[in-house]
Amino acid sequence: MNIDFHMHSTASDGALSPADLMDRCVQRGLHCVALTDHDTLQGYWQAKEHLDKNDSPLKLLCGVELSAKWSKGSVHIVGLNIDPQNAVLKDGLLRLQEIRLDRIARIAQRLDKIGITGVQEHIDTHCIGVQAGRPHIAQFLLETGVVKTEQDAFKRYLGKGKLGDISHCWPDLEEVVAWILAAGGVAVLAHPLHYKLSRTQLKCLFERFAGCGGAAVEVLTGHQQAGTEQQLATLVEQHNLYASMGSDFHTPENKWKEVGRMLPLPKQSRPVWELFAEQLR
Ligand code: MN
Ligand code: MN
Ligand code: MN
Repeated sequence: MNIDFHMHSTASDGALSPADLMDRCVQRGLHCVALTDHDTLQGYWQAKEHLDKNDSPLKLLCGVELSAKWSKGSVHIVGLNIDPQNAVLKDGLLRLQEIRLDRIARIAQRLDKIGITGVQEHIDTHCIGVQAGRPHIAQFLLETGVVKTEQDAFKRYLGKGKLGDISHCWPDLEEVVAWILAAGGVAVLAHPLHYKLSRTQLKCLFERFAGCGGAAVEVLTGHQQAGTEQQLATLVEQHNLYASMGSDFHTPENKWKEVGRMLPLPKQSRPVWELFAEQLR
């Protein structure tokens, strides 16, 4: 069975519309997928409508990718097989969206002070129904000729150590996992090797995640160094967690993070879909 439980559409920061993304998953021979846009379920409804309309055999789970605070940094938690109507989760999503908007407003204010005006107005008029983020500000700076490339915007204004480098105040890991559980979903720790943690820190994270009801870890993600899946699988097993897999697809331009482009799960791993097997039939 071909599975991919982590991907993004234009509902967050992906390049393909939910419908086009579903078509791509079908073309690439996938059987079951979860659309996991950042902090929003908007794309799910569009993807579902598209599949229903075309009588597609592709199974779609409702998913989401949420940001959470852990230790001094942040981690991403994927929710799988969630009830999109759940009120607790909906409130949580609104909160995350507020945190994002608040950060944009603070960056816009800072840019305003150095004479780069109009950022807030641009976001307010152009980012309706999408997750506004720094890439949208970069786009604006490019369009208005402040910078020559989007990379330049990050190098000069938005990247690490620059004026627009304002960190988010995400809710705690425990709280975010609780929203997913409230919505009847399975909480999955996303791309554990992206946080650049030591082995001890990684164990610490797994422990805290499992302790608050987290059920699985992404043992396989797009563009992963060979061999690391075995190490992860062992660590995951030691913490009595299930294993998930997802490409983290954002754009067709990144060939390494193509939908469905992953190795099979290591034999020792218990696949996360055992937790919602009835959905896959
Ligand atoms: Mn993303
Ligand atoms: Mn992520
Ligand atoms: Mn992602």
